[in-house]
Amino acid sequence: MTEIRLSSLVLFRTQLFLELLISPAILSFRISSGLAALRKVYGNRPQYHPSRSPFLPGAIFGLLVLWQYYQIQTMKGRILAIDIFDRSGIRMYLYAMADDLQACEVCRSAHGMVFPPSEVMKRQFSPIKGICKTPARCIGFLVGLYGAWPEADRIVTRLRLSHKREPIRLSQDELGEMVLGPWERSISANTDRLGIYVLEAVLGDRSNPSIAMDKYLHTLEHAKQIRHMPLIVPTYFRLVELLTTQERTIEALRLIEQFEKRYTEGKSGPYAPTEKQFALMKIKKSHLKNTARTIAPAAAA
Ligand SMILES: [Zn+2]
Repeated sequence: MTEIRLSSLVLFRTQLFLELLISPAILSFRISSGLAALRKVYGNRPQYHPSRSPFLPGAIFGLLVLWQYYQIQTMKGRILAIDIFDRSGIRMYLYAMADDLQACEVCRSAHGMVFPPSEVMKRQFSPIKGICKTPARCIGFLVGLYGAWPEADRIVTRLRLSHKREPIRLSQDELGEMVLGPWERSISANTDRLGIYVLEAVLGDRSNPSIAMDKYLHTLEHAKQIRHMPLIVPTYFRLVELLTTQERTIEALRLIEQFEKRYTEGKSGPYAPTEKQFALMKIKKSHLKNTARTIAPAAAA
């Protein structure tokens, strides 16, 4: 039953999108397919002639009314709103901080904040209010989601209803509830998969680091779309951190080399690491190299 509802929702949204783009073409297509349907019903009976059919004017009139209805909805902004969201595929941005006891208060207080896409698109946007005091320890993820499953959809609704479209804050329980919701059965499963993996990893990486690390690695491997780009740099930082904590020095060093290969220093871009981040990674690399040197003679002895 749910699947039938979901598939009709997909059909409905696709239809709206197409109608906005090519509504006149749709109208003529509908008339011709209406005619084709009538021809199918009447077949090649010799007595059939469209002008004699009582159904044809009614069918055309019905299609015109339907088209007009969509036009009115578009003018009211209802269809356009859905269309914008469908095109970007993101209805909310969620900020989640990696669970580090040494992370600063400024960043910690931004954990669980949900922002509308219009806010994130602003030039001066920052998920944190203030200046981070410990950049080496604060790793935050800005995850864009469509969120079609009930738990996420309720958050999107709350965000839309919030006063002046202000960001809203989710408690840790609400965050967990959303991530544990049936997202895989929703129409946005494919779109949101990587975002959810990152959130699952972030929320559980101190209690269950191995599972989290697999999810972070999966993210680095499969992040190909623009919406995933902001997740890559913090994923590298968190993964290096977890590997270091687990004394997996060589793996951490390899990951840093991969990071350096992926982002050549000096190349700037909206999702490239900042100079500060490059510098931080260099410090981490030199610490790890020192550790590797001390481990190697001990292992050889
Ligand atoms: Zn901070």
